[in-house]
Amino acid sequence: MAVQNDLQLQETHPLHYYEVAVNRPLFQTYTYASFQPISLGCRVQVKLGHSTEVGIVVAQSTKAPDSDFTITTIDKIIDPTPILSAEILTLCHWGSSYYFQPLGEFIFTFIPNYLKQAKLLESLYIEAFEITSKGKYAKLPSQAIKQSDALATIQTLATTSNSNLVAKTTLNQHDIKSDTLRQLLKKELIQKSLIPPYAYTTAPTQTNENSLTLNQEQSDAVSTVIKNQNTFKSILLEGVTGSGKTEVYLNICRHFLNQGQQVLLLVPEIGLTPQLSERLQTQLPYPMITLHSDLANKERASRWLQTKHSTSLVVIGTRSAIACDLPKLACIILDEEHDSSFKQQEGIRYHSRSLAIKRAQLKSIPILLGSATPSLETLTNAEQGRYQHLRLTKRATGANLPEIEIQDSSRLTANQVFTDSTSEAIRNTLQKQQQVLVFINRRGFAPTLQCSQCHWVADCEHCDVALTIHKATNSLDCHHCEHKQPIPRRCPSCNSPYMSPLGFGTERIESELIQHFPDHPIIRMDRDSTQNRGSLEKIRQTLLEGTPCILVGTQMVSKGHDFPNLTLSVVLNCDNGLHNQDFRSKEHLLQNLIQVAGRSGRSKLQGQVIIQTNYPDHPLFVHFKEQDFPGFAKEELTHRKKLGLPPFHHQAAIRMQSLMDNQAFQKLLSLEKYLKDCVYAQGNQNLDISLTMPAAIERKSNWYRYLIVVSSPSRKHLHQYLNIAHEYLLKIPRTKKLKWVIDVDPLDT
Ligand code: ADP
Ligand code: ZN
Ligand code: ZN
Repeated sequence: MAVQNDLQLQETHPLHYYEVAVNRPLFQTYTYASFQPISLGCRVQVKLGHSTEVGIVVAQSTKAPDSDFTITTIDKIIDPTPILSAEILTLCHWGSSYYFQPLGEFIFTFIPNYLKQAKLLESLYIEAFEITSKGKYAKLPSQAIKQSDALATIQTLATTSNSNLVAKTTLNQHDIKSDTLRQLLKKELIQKSLIPPYAYTTAPTQTNENSLTLNQEQSDAVSTVIKNQNTFKSILLEGVTGSGKTEVYLNICRHFLNQGQQVLLLVPEIGLTPQLSERLQTQLPYPMITLHSDLANKERASRWLQTKHSTSLVVIGTRSAIACDLPKLACIILDEEHDSSFKQQEGIRYHSRSLAIKRAQLKSIPILLGSATPSLETLTNAEQGRYQHLRLTKRATGANLPEIEIQDSSRLTANQVFTDSTSEAIRNTLQKQQQVLVFINRRGFAPTLQCSQCHWVADCEHCDVALTIHKATNSLDCHHCEHKQPIPRRCPSCNSPYMSPLGFGTERIESELIQHFPDHPIIRMDRDSTQNRGSLEKIRQTLLEGTPCILVGTQMVSKGHDFPNLTLSVVLNCDNGLHNQDFRSKEHLLQNLIQVAGRSGRSKLQGQVIIQTNYPDHPLFVHFKEQDFPGFAKEELTHRKKLGLPPFHHQAAIRMQSLMDNQAFQKLLSLEKYLKDCVYAQGNQNLDISLTMPAAIERKSNWYRYLIVVSSPSRKHLHQYLNIAHEYLLKIPRTKKLKWVIDVDPLDT
């Protein structure tokens, strides 16, 4: 064996061998040598081919590799201590093999961007100040008001910090300017240190511990979780919207935090983190960390590192927070467990709920899955006794569930948005000084631009979809790739000047509402209107103030918000969900409708919901009118069982895409044949393999996309054949022109 670097050193220092996983689509780790011992979970810098990569040390090689190949030494050890614990490494090992994802990429999806590079942890250190002994007794001249105020503030804040130090950022938030600090430093009344961000935590100074008295169902839920502390136990908390699930979470957190332990609370959307953290923060005198993608890189990295070092801590985060390091983790809570945002559908594919359950099992702790409309997977797990099933059956404030009205919209003209009766209801609500929510699951002005003469439609040149009209940017945008183009004045096909928008998006609804209700603020909340950091929060504050207004938005508005003065929700254009090919579309639609309905009339005011649909007699609306999710679930599960669909059969999609038309299709066709031959040879009745078929959008960003769906009632059999498929796929190099991925438990097939 030859070691490339430092040959002489080798004679005096014994070599250690490690397996290193890098952030590349590679299904193997590589062995590197080091003259120093390194802890597992540390970042290192290594050479791979011609490039230099940051990798994570994932295992120790038990023995030196065979002598017939060359081993490289590790270039640099970046972290003196691990940034990933053994527990997280085990979770990632499990996840990468369960989901057939490359280990390195899998691990790196959970590492904040800042730490994906070779940045030293020292670069995250923060400036912090403390009062010197001289400062404690200093008498400042009466004109130095700013300085004495600053001293007093530092003194107060120091008592809430875990050390005597107060971070500069905290002081800035309290309006203490750098200049004032400089003057205090000069007088030696304070001193400055550079500390790791995790050495500094603060808890709220004022909390209101007089929380509500829980009702019987709520306190049963809390005590069930507490009873199971230190035991792996999955518990479903099915509670109608407004039934006080959040109050249950809060009480569970309080219990564990009082014991010096940590709780991880996962939510589907960034938008939900501020309101949840605000609510918990006013009740719990402990530090709290929120983790999501809307944070600056450095800030996110600091917070991510901090979770490891604080006891009595709640972490609130979106799906990737499942793998943050919490040594004293006592309980995991997944709010809105049915939400598909917990599944990452692009790049590395995983479901945060499955990882959460695995983590609870590894750690022997309880996990609580909360929802008003649980996924059929979770309901079945509860039905079959794998999860305990708890219910909250009524709204906690005693408020009634909203009144529901289904409006027939089939007679509206192409340019009419609201039925007369809907307009009337909106007007009445505003007159009563209350707020309205209009939900439409489509951003932009209109989903299509069409020529009125020849019916030409503006399509994306890279995808098989129509371009969306965006008036705000005056462009036609593809919602599936980066493509944008100006709106043409004339039809490119027949040169006619008569081009018109077809259908509605949030922008168009907004402008309609401005015309009809000019005296009230119309607030739009979608991906386009919330691009700037902090804009979501601003919208939330406006609604909380209670001013009568209309909130128009996509999915973003439907979840979790608690605006007490919002009493009317209007749902537009949900018909697609009634007839979509995806077998989960009805489940998702009903979940979504119940969510939207749950936004209205949460306080003492009676709520109202209007659904506009061209199919008012559709059976789904019967369940909706009665808010009968369990009834729907029962029917739907019977149907799925008959058809051999999830959750009764487990599925995986094998997806392949190529830049060249036909290439992916042909290769996938061969795999289909190979798998079918294997199944045939082994006489396995337990596995179903679909034909090779095009993806829902066949061409996307110039990639031609196909898939095979493999399913089996036995998870073991499914994985056995996925292993065979994976072996086969590994022989097909993933190139710049051809890609494949195995998608276990897909949500879109
Ligand atoms: P969910 O999370 O199920 O939607 P929340 O926890 O947000 O429900 O509770 C809905 C409303 O009911 C909130 O305004 C909350 O303050 C109130 N609430 C919750 N629990 C109780 C209780 N035990 N007594 C009185 N009000 C309650
Ligand atoms: Zn035309
Ligand atoms: Zn496109």
